[in-house]
Amino acid sequence: MRFRMRRGADVAAVTGASFDLAAGQCLALVGESGCGKSVLASALLGLLPGNARTTGTATVRTTCRGGGAETDGDPATARPAGSAAARLRPGLRSHIRPSPRHAPGAPDLLDLLAADEETLARRVRGRLVGLVPQSPAAHLTPVRTVRSQLEETVRELCAPARQDLRAAAEAAAGRAAFPADHLDHYPHQLSGGLAQRAALALALVGDAPVLLADEPTTGLDRDLVNRTADELRRHADSGRAVLLVTHDLAAAERTADRVAVMYAGRIVELSDARDFFGTPGPRHPYAAGLLDALPTRAFRTIPGAPPELGSLPAGCAFAPRCHRATATCTTTLPAPPAPTGGAACHHPLEPTPATTAPAAPAPASTTSPTPPVPAPASVRPASARPAAHTGLPVPAHPDSTEAAADA
Ligand code: SF4
Repeated sequence: MRFRMRRGADVAAVTGASFDLAAGQCLALVGESGCGKSVLASALLGLLPGNARTTGTATVRTTCRGGGAETDGDPATARPAGSAAARLRPGLRSHIRPSPRHAPGAPDLLDLLAADEETLARRVRGRLVGLVPQSPAAHLTPVRTVRSQLEETVRELCAPARQDLRAAAEAAAGRAAFPADHLDHYPHQLSGGLAQRAALALALVGDAPVLLADEPTTGLDRDLVNRTADELRRHADSGRAVLLVTHDLAAAERTADRVAVMYAGRIVELSDARDFFGTPGPRHPYAAGLLDALPTRAFRTIPGAPPELGSLPAGCAFAPRCHRATATCTTTLPAPPAPTGGAACHHPLEPTPATTAPAAPAPASTTSPTPPVPAPASVRPASARPAAHTGLPVPAHPDSTEAAADA
């Protein structure tokens, strides 16, 4: 994925990104701002500007029975594959690399990068692939209330009976924790967090089989981050595929099955989320640095800054910041991780050995002066609560984790 800039410069925004995303799974795409993760998500919906050029394929697969239609065993109920009403078993496969564009595949495959604008508008956006945009205020129509926009989306994607439309729109708002008493507000009357929730509510309408959530927790407080993450998790658990683009590692840990770490336009590590956040831990030095930046871990920033995408070095782009770099790293590009997992690194980190559970604390002394006072619920550390999916502790201060990851 390249951008033609003024004065003829050519910027490689995303190169060699290859991953699979199955139905019922959430893949978190993480990395510092500017690494290419949002560009990748935008390309999947044909939302790149006119100076962008993409090669490769990004295939949405819908499993069809009965000769290209979902039948549920009853020919009378057959519906075209890919329609909003069909029960789809979706998957997303993206191989974005400098290779010739493939011809369209079997009838149940749709290459998003090759689809024309009409297909994207009528069949893909909102129906097959939902989007939680990164800048919700810019995506909401400024001259219409949230209720009006929700009702229109519900009417188009769900076609409820006329008398049920209002209740359906309010139910859609409730899924994203958007307060009912703000439904008649215009976008400019909303805070950033409320605009984010309105955008999430719009994206969840229609239960698209694939959901792209681009920084869906930006501007939300801790409780709403957790609620949003849990709603995305529920969306995946109901058989949808969720691509979560985020630099909030706490949200990624709470939601994702798998993690893809991007750096300078490339995926440098693909891993099972449980392995990544627990043991054996990340194998790529940059991925390990992201985790070490968390306040709940080493709270140590990665030295230096990401390279300019327009002037990437010949070898590993992380070499100037990497404490393990050798001469090979500066001259030879590491192989990308396999779609099943791995790290793009000549000298990956050793796996962290699993630690045994700490011994139970000794019984409290009978002379102990005062018992510990429990913190109020509002300030109780989130680490006391296991992540909904991974079972791992969740960092208590997501705002500072974002800041550290961005550092
Ligand atoms: S390839 Fe070399 S420079 Fe790049 S992350 Fe691995 S060790 Fe560091």
